[in-house]
Parts: sequence; structure tokens; C-alpha cells
Amino acid sequence: MPPSILWLCRDFRFRDNAAMAAAAAAGPVLPVFLIDRGLRAQGAASRWRIERALRAFDAELRRRHGAAVLVLEGEPEALLPDLTARIGAAALHMNDWPEPGTIAAQQRLGRALAGTPARLVLHPGHLLLHPRALRTGSGGAYRVFTPFARTLRAIGPDRPGGEAPRLAPLADPPQGLALDRLDLAPDLHRGRAVLERHALPAGEAAALARLGDFLDRAGDYAAQRDRPDRDATSGLSESLAVGEIGPRDLWAIATARARADSAAGAGIAAFLTELIWREFAWHLLIAFPRLARQPWRPEWSDFPWRGASGDLTRWQRAETGIALVDAGLREMRVTGRMHNRVRMVAASWLTKHLLTDWRLGLAHFADSLTDWDPASNAMNWQWVAGCGPDAAPFFRIFNPERQAAQFDPQGRYRRRWLLGWQGAEAEEARGYFDSLPPAWQVSRHYAEDGADPTSGRARALAAHAAFRHRVQGSGI
Ligand SMILES: Cc1cc2nc3c(=O)[nH]c(=O)nc-3n(C[C@H](O)[C@H](O)[C@H](O)COP(=O)(O)OP(=O)(O)OC[C@H]3O[C@@H](n4cnc5c(N)ncnc54)[C@H](O)[C@@H]3O)c2cc1C
Repeated sequence: MPPSILWLCRDFRFRDNAAMAAAAAAGPVLPVFLIDRGLRAQGAASRWRIERALRAFDAELRRRHGAAVLVLEGEPEALLPDLTARIGAAALHMNDWPEPGTIAAQQRLGRALAGTPARLVLHPGHLLLHPRALRTGSGGAYRVFTPFARTLRAIGPDRPGGEAPRLAPLADPPQGLALDRLDLAPDLHRGRAVLERHALPAGEAAALARLGDFLDRAGDYAAQRDRPDRDATSGLSESLAVGEIGPRDLWAIATARARADSAAGAGIAAFLTELIWREFAWHLLIAFPRLARQPWRPEWSDFPWRGASGDLTRWQRAETGIALVDAGLREMRVTGRMHNRVRMVAASWLTKHLLTDWRLGLAHFADSLTDWDPASNAMNWQWVAGCGPDAAPFFRIFNPERQAAQFDPQGRYRRRWLLGWQGAEAEEARGYFDSLPPAWQVSRHYAEDGADPTSGRARALAAHAAFRHRVQGSGI
């Protein structure tokens, strides 16, 4: 039987991996990972996380099947037609990652394969349902979350596939780049050591273990998920972003647990709603790729956002003087993660109090987050900025002091990340200083500088009122 190529992208798992199952059923398999333009354009932290996923997957592939991932550098349309010809492959199987740049790369590859005996076969699995399965009554894409979620729950997600069958490696596979010398993130300026100290274990087994651990405490999720000072959420976003676990599998495992454990039922239902938010973000990005770069509501193109400024730099360096905002930005610098509630507060501070263009914040998150996801990042930034689909209105502005009082009442979260704040000495807070270039000269003793949330809020509201006046009638 002719061999197949398994083009890995964001699917570093063995369960619910339709492309792997199809390739393994057809004959010998050559798993391939490409360092292409699309990957290089991504943020450093996300590439660092992909490298960890790739290493863990390759180790497991060797252990289970005696096969290895072939790593190549270049564009798919330049490399893969030659590779298929060289090994006599009849097909390239790929799990879909419906990100606009990857779709364009798939199209270029499809054209390059025309006239050859090989074809590219795409398999769904990155989402709960096939990307175009959910449509409104008039056949269009949803723009509002609640009816989208209602329809998804009514239809139910697609069933996950099981474990991939035995995979036969190629007898004499081509040689590629050495995985042990690979560095996908040479521009990770905060240093690998900083992220590695706080890294969650990578790989499919670790993701499944994390899910199991989360489900044991999911009963508290609905009540505690907004508390950054508690360990109440799943911590699975990184694994979902790199495909160490598939959302269909996650849904099936979580719903089975909810049926068996009624005490966890409400928490798991809330957790599944968050998974539907992820699905909604992808639904929007696929239907409206402009979501990643342009305001969802076109009239917001004229909003007088500020561009790069000292305020933006201070925000990026976690020196705004607002404790909750700086704690979140330091958490992200040290770990690549940030609690969802704090992401909202930090994004609101940048776009409302500092009136700074949401795209500058989006780019900083894209470079810094290990769970970077183009759809979730864009939808959430637009949601907070007030220009997105189903967004909170612009005039709903988070007050960081009230948010801190409600969600970090004893200051535990802020003490963990802000050295010197109320005498804090936490090891995590020290990690921030290990990540800084000396030129930044950040004081080791954190002080709130008394930035006044009230005046920033007033300035934002005045800018919005003037803007509304200018574009009156557009429904802003
Ligand atoms: C400004 C901003 C930017 C964001 N950027 C990203 C991003 O790049 N990548 C990313 O995965 N999430 C992003 N989020 C959403 C959210 O903050 C993270 O998914 C969440 O913090 C991950 O932690 P968890 O896995 O413990 O979540 P849990 O609470 O355990 O939730 C389970 C899963 O649901 C999904 N989810 C939860 N909240 C959201 C949400 N608001 N929108 C979409 N999906 C959600 C995630 O896949 C998450 O892993 C962003 C939120 C904001 C406000």
C-alpha cells in the first residue's frame, strides 16, 4: 500500500485524531511538521509552546510506534509535492486548523499538487462541529452568542474518534532537522528558563491528567472561575491551542462525568459554556476573517484610538501602577498565562482608560501567551474594546479597584505577582525580574502610583460621546 504523509499542525495527540487514523488505515505513515511562514509569524511564546508539544508528541510516537516526526523548514507548496513524489505517497492527511493563513497555505499546496497523483485530505477535529455546520435560519453565520450556543447544544457536538490505530512507520524515512537542536522561539526575549520554571507539563497524557484533576474539582467551577486567587479553572487552553486534546473528546469526557456525578453537574455545564465561547470565536473568524485585524463594526474604524505611547510601553512592561493590571501582565510575562478575569481588566485598562488601540494589546498578548489562539484572542479583545460582535457596550468600563476587591479580596493574587506590594516576597513575583532586560530598570519594590481610575474613565466616556456624536445614526 502506498504511504501517506501526516501533516501535523495543531494536533499533537493520538486520540480523536482523524487525520492520523485515516493515514494509518491506508498504509505506512510519515508524520511531518513544517516550520513555515505562518508559524514564524506567530508570537514567540506560542512557538515555544508548540515546540514543547512537538517534542512530547515525537517522544510518544517513538515509544508507541517506532516512528519519528520529520521536521522541515520551508513552505508547504515548495516542500510537500517533492516529498510526496520522493516517498511515493498517495495522500497528505491533515487535521484542519481553520486559521486564515493556514487555509491560504492549504490552497497553495492544493494547486502545487494538481497534476500529481497525490492529494491533500482535510479532516475536522479542531472544533466541536464541522466549521460550517451551524447556520442561522437564513443560512448565514451567527453573530450573537446565545442563539449560537442554544443551537450547538441542541444539535450536540460531533462524536470524537477513539485512539488512532497502530501506525506503521516508513521503512527508510528521509532525514530532517534534529529535534533536540530545534529552537522555534529564538526571539523569546524573557528567556526560556523563566517560562520553563512555570510550564505546565506538555503532551496528551498530561492534558488528560489535567482534565481528570479539573473534573474532580469542577463542582466549584461556576462559583469560583472568576477568582484569580484560586485554582478553579481547568488550565486546558494551552493544550487546546496546540491540539494535545481535542474539544470533542473534552466535551464527551466532561458530559460523561456530569452524568455520573450530579454534584459536579452545574460546574461542568458552566465549563462547557466556556468551550462554546471558544467555538463561537472560531465560528466568527471563519465566517469573517477580518475579525483578527479590523473592528467587527466598521464604523469603529474611525474611533480616535491612541497609537504607541509611553502609556502602552508601561502597560506592556507591567508598570501601569494599577496593581491588578500589573499583576496580570507580570503573570503573563513569567508563565505565558493570565487568568481570564484579569485579561479582561488589563485589556479594559489599555483600551478604555488609556484609550489605546485594541490591536496593540492584541499583538502583545499574541506574542506573550502560551495559549495564543487567533480566534479567542481577537474576539475577546474586540469584546472588551466595545467594537466586537456581541460586545459589552463601550461605556461599561471595568474599575480595576472594584474588580480587585471582588475577585481578589485578600490580595493573594496580587501578592503572588507583585514583589514588594504589601510586603510580598513570593517566588513567582521574583521571576518577573529574571525576565527583564537590565535597561528597563524596574523598581523591585512595587508601588501603586495612585493612577486615578476615575479620570481615565471620564476621558474614555468623553471620547466615546464625541465619537457617537460624529457617527450619529450608526447605532453605536
Ligand atoms: C483579552 C482576552 C484575550 C484572550 N486571548 C485568548 C487566547 O489567545 N487564547 C485562549 O485560549 N483564550 C483567550 N482568552 C480567553 C480566556 O481568557 C482563556 O481561554 C482562559 O483564561 C484559559 O484558561 P482555562 O483553560 O483555565 O479556562 P477555563 O475556564 O477552564 O475554560 C475552559 C476552556 O474554555 C475556553 N474559554 C474560556 N474562556 C473563554 C473565552 N472568554 N473566550 C473563548 N474561549 C474561552 C478555553 O478554551 C478554555 O481552555 C482571552 C480572553 C481575553 C479577555
